[in-house]
Amino acid sequence: MAPSIAEKSIAENLSVIRAAMAKAATEAARAADAVTLVAVSKTHPADAVRKALDAGQLVFGENRVQEALAKFPALKAAHPALELHLIGPLQTNKVRDAVALFDVIQSLDREKLAQALAAEMARQNRWPKLFIQVNTGEEEQKAGLRPEAVDAFVAHCRDQLKLPVVGLMCIPPVDQHPAPHFALLAKMARRNGLAGLSMGMSGDFEDAIKCGATHVRIGTAIFGARG
Ligand SMILES: *Cc1c(COP(=O)(O)O)cnc(C)c1O
Repeated sequence: MAPSIAEKSIAENLSVIRAAMAKAATEAARAADAVTLVAVSKTHPADAVRKALDAGQLVFGENRVQEALAKFPALKAAHPALELHLIGPLQTNKVRDAVALFDVIQSLDREKLAQALAAEMARQNRWPKLFIQVNTGEEEQKAGLRPEAVDAFVAHCRDQLKLPVVGLMCIPPVDQHPAPHFALLAKMARRNGLAGLSMGMSGDFEDAIKCGATHVRIGTAIFGARG
């Protein structure tokens, strides 16, 4: 059976993005496979995720626990290698569901949440990897730690709470050039001995890869505009 238009375009979009990622990595003298593509499927139906899975994509990002709970348990059962990342804010009353469902949580941004995660991960004996979200632009309404609080918070999470912190994540201000934010995040990760750098979205992932991103989070360029 010939692939439908939408099926074809998700697969085609993925191959275009993967090629652009490899090109950016090569230009930055990094290995072409040094960067993980997190396909952000928020607001798109499970069927769109299935099309991406059929095209070989295994890593997905969602920004709401409830929406991910409705879509992903069945997909994960059918595809055990699927890796699901939480990229949106996490309320402490959703920590139980989040720890059970997600393989990586990228939005750790405060002490209360760190404590709730430590307790719940021990209770479930399930240890999703964690990225600490940094508000590099120090924007009023944006989630994330202020840059000057990062070093102490990383040390506290790792040393006191024994949390599996693997990296830092940021969402630069929409009205600024993202590269200085990516460079700042990379510098903070380096001085804290963290290998993971989640930065770069549909519009700026090439810049992010040049600044050292290990994970780019791309939605629109794969699945199309959100409704
Ligand atoms: C939605 C979202 C993305 C993907 O953005 P696109 O511009 O659609 O690629 C990346 N990161 C976070 C945190 C998001 O909420």
